[in-house]
Amino acid sequence: MIVGTTLDVIFDEFTAVRLQSRSRKSPDAYVKLNSKWNFCADATPAGPTQGALNINRVYHATLETYQSPVARSRADPPEVAVKWVRGSLGVEKMRYEAALYRGELKHLQGDVVPRFYGLFTGEIDGEVVGCLVLEWCNNSYSLKREELNRRRMSAIYRLHAAGILHGQLRDAGHFLYSQDGRVRIVDFSTARLHHCPTHSECSTFERGRSPEICEELSTMEVCLGICSAGWAIQSH
Ligand SMILES: [Zn+2]
Repeated sequence: MIVGTTLDVIFDEFTAVRLQSRSRKSPDAYVKLNSKWNFCADATPAGPTQGALNINRVYHATLETYQSPVARSRADPPEVAVKWVRGSLGVEKMRYEAALYRGELKHLQGDVVPRFYGLFTGEIDGEVVGCLVLEWCNNSYSLKREELNRRRMSAIYRLHAAGILHGQLRDAGHFLYSQDGRVRIVDFSTARLHHCPTHSECSTFERGRSPEICEELSTMEVCLGICSAGWAIQSH
């Protein structure tokens, strides 16, 4: 689902901002920001004109649409992460990330990457602002480290097979989890298009002929492998 042409971002009972999407799909929607956020300490809603330029803030919210109560009652409104930024550089990065979600990552949404609900932009006091609305994911999941690492590595393989190099995977904060424990890789602001020499969807024959290795894959195989071994040793 991509929601429609306008999104009202409600910071508190006195402050709301209406942003626009280039999408022509309806219905229009609103998000009411929740100050409770687990991942960054400074995510108390600070107001649309506050905070440093080009620095992302991420809020927890519920995505509600301006439909009739009958239409709305058919499905629970999804919990979402609202990634907010003020400043043209930050908004450009969001446009880049949104293009990846709509393009190379589209078939991985709700699976290896969060569902993408849209990119919305506007202008406040002469400064461009924008937000990405994404599926809400948890920052932990109760499972043995070995199994978590296996799931993380499997998700990374699928990302590379889709032609994306993430670029920041050594930061464990980029691995989140759905309610059912599936890994969601997040933050594609520095991701690059990538023809993976060791894990592309090319034929085995072609892959066998390639002498190259993929640096991100081999780095993460070592990193997650060492973590798994460490966990196994400590647990005995
Ligand atoms: Zn690769």
